[in-house]
Amino acid sequence: MPSPTVVQVVVDKPLAQGFDYLWDAQKLGVEPVIGQIVEVPFGRSTLIGVVIKVSAHSDFDIQKLKGVSALAPLPPLDSAVLRLMNFASQYYIHVLGETIIPTIPQMWKKSANWEKIPKKLLAAEKKKDKKDREIKSEGLIVESRLNNEQQSALVSLRNTAAEKKFRAILLQGQTGSGKTAVFLSWLSSILEDEEAQVLILVPEINLTPQLERRVRAYFPNKNMSVLHSAIPENQRGVAWYEAMTGKAQIILGTRLAALTPMPNLKAIVVDEEHDPSYKQQDGIRYSARDLAIWRAHDVKAPILLSSATPSLETWMAAKAGRYQYIRLDQRAQGAGLPKVHLINTRDPQNQFSPGDVDKPMSKSPITKTLVRAISKNLDSKKQSLVLINRRGYAPVLSCNACSWLSKCQQCSSYMVMHKAGALNRKAVLNCHHCGLVKPIPEHCPDCGNADLKGLGQGTQKVEDSIEEIWPNARVLRVDTDSSKKSKGAEELFQEIHSGNVDLVVGTQMIAKGHDYQNIGLVAALDADSRLFSQDFRAAERLFAQLVQVAGRAGRSGVEGQAGGDMFIETQYPEAPVFQYLLRHDVDGFLSYTANEREEAKLPPFSYQGLIHAEAKSLDKAIQFLSSLKGRLKAKGLIAHGLKAYDPVPKALMRVAGTERAQLLLESGDRKQLQEILEAIDQDLRGQSQGRISKGENIRWLIERDPISI
Ligand code: ADP
Ligand code: ZN
Ligand code: ZN
Repeated sequence: MPSPTVVQVVVDKPLAQGFDYLWDAQKLGVEPVIGQIVEVPFGRSTLIGVVIKVSAHSDFDIQKLKGVSALAPLPPLDSAVLRLMNFASQYYIHVLGETIIPTIPQMWKKSANWEKIPKKLLAAEKKKDKKDREIKSEGLIVESRLNNEQQSALVSLRNTAAEKKFRAILLQGQTGSGKTAVFLSWLSSILEDEEAQVLILVPEINLTPQLERRVRAYFPNKNMSVLHSAIPENQRGVAWYEAMTGKAQIILGTRLAALTPMPNLKAIVVDEEHDPSYKQQDGIRYSARDLAIWRAHDVKAPILLSSATPSLETWMAAKAGRYQYIRLDQRAQGAGLPKVHLINTRDPQNQFSPGDVDKPMSKSPITKTLVRAISKNLDSKKQSLVLINRRGYAPVLSCNACSWLSKCQQCSSYMVMHKAGALNRKAVLNCHHCGLVKPIPEHCPDCGNADLKGLGQGTQKVEDSIEEIWPNARVLRVDTDSSKKSKGAEELFQEIHSGNVDLVVGTQMIAKGHDYQNIGLVAALDADSRLFSQDFRAAERLFAQLVQVAGRAGRSGVEGQAGGDMFIETQYPEAPVFQYLLRHDVDGFLSYTANEREEAKLPPFSYQGLIHAEAKSLDKAIQFLSSLKGRLKAKGLIAHGLKAYDPVPKALMRVAGTERAQLLLESGDRKQLQEILEAIDQDLRGQSQGRISKGENIRWLIERDPISI
């Protein structure tokens, strides 16, 4: 009898090992190959898995092994993407099966579909051809139209001798400086190779349609795959298939696209590289930007990181010469950056007084200074954009007679008041963490008082006030609620582009990336709420966001003049974030932040790992982490240079009835951190079923390089 073929398969379960199966080449039609996607019997059902090893032996009794039941009609995952998965699994301390399988689109994970899929693909092809013709292309700036600054950026980028080698480049350019036009021109030279594939990552789904149109305009003859989580499953399945078979030359997508197989990957662009959305916040908590850099290094390809406000990590790497550093310091369409004004809300001069003829009837959430500036901007037929980073009407409902507040019964947070027609036909309370929706109580649940009042303000309240102050203006609210309701976000953005609105109120959704052409004024209302956060990255994020919002103003302004105005309402105009913004001094702010971090030995001057624990009671979660720390100490693992903090409740301690705690580890040495995290993984696995501890049922997770603490 010939020796049997055994394959090791990983599945989407929190189990450290792979499982052995027999391979029946006759039944499956081919010999086994590493990377094949298969269906295997597992317990009483079947699972999708990936072959990671082929051999003639098993440590188990061959007689008892089950056979692989089906093979997906796909080429095997290529070796480069498997290396990436292996690296991600090791670096992020997450088992291989749980790393790979979730990156395969659903369509390919239903083996019942496998026979029908070829037909589906054909149908999708036809539809796509049609769609390609329908989709509007826009914003074409061909190479010959690039300005001098862009041209020289392109020359440095097209360092042909260095192609086919790893190279990381920071393209740091003002908002509106024409970074997109530069990297598209660069990609066009790489795409001259017919086989080449390029990956373009964008931080948010909302930004893909705009970039998709620009890429289509630039590359009408290239096949493009768009990958993000809002794309219907089957369409995503087809896009992924075209990427993994090399049929698509351009792969454009959000963070999940970074893990797509691309056998001929020749260059990567990470647009808005600083954006926190690149960090996956559940399952394997990877940074798509960091993985993309690793991937470029691994396949010896160049990677371009683009931003107006680079992350401190990237900026320091460029300063130190580890990354090539290319800058664009002028706006492409000629205008300057907007003039920034800080409005001190504590200064009575900025507030309405009883004698003012333009004083609104109700209390205005906007200062007099800003109201007058917006009126002037409206008169000049320009659009205004008001940023308030809180959706809903009011962040909390309160009782005027007692101390009742609208606490969520399941979370350690408040339920947000939403006005009638926003979420529901009626006004409701809604918890933004667990999703709980409740009617607004008619009387205070504690004292029966009927006088309940919303505290603070969200987008809906500001929208109401604006409608009251400027009854003739066309007002549009853009937040996740309004974009979910009738129109998608893209339609809302189109309304702004088409000039059908005068005043836009929105959350950070409106701030990023969009190339609006007629905005004369932008204003940020609630910046202060993010000044004093316990998260050491809060200021960096606030700064980046304010630069982005500022960047929406005056893009098409007059050559040589300030491009519009930006107003920031604040009680702390002297705060460094605002002072650097006033001067548009991105480098100054980053260098100030770098000094602060260096003194405190915070990332990027150290590396962090976070152990999360979730339990029914906070005590148990803390206890679980304390005893973990105790064991690490006892084993002598908390060596010199490693700092293990005490376990603490998370900032948002309770969500949907679960209590959450964390243990932070910090080291100046990557390797030391890696070793301790691996030891922790082993320790915890020894007493857990998957990632749930036996006995106390505590759910735990290890996170590498956390970005919010
Ligand atoms: P960024 O990505 O830096 O924000 P974009 O590439 O989106 O900038 O360019 C901003 C705007 O300037 C776009 O409307 C774009 O069409 C326009 N633009 C870019 N390059 C040029 C150029 N060389 N001449 C004229 N307009 C340009
Ligand atoms: Zn009360
Ligand atoms: Zn809740």
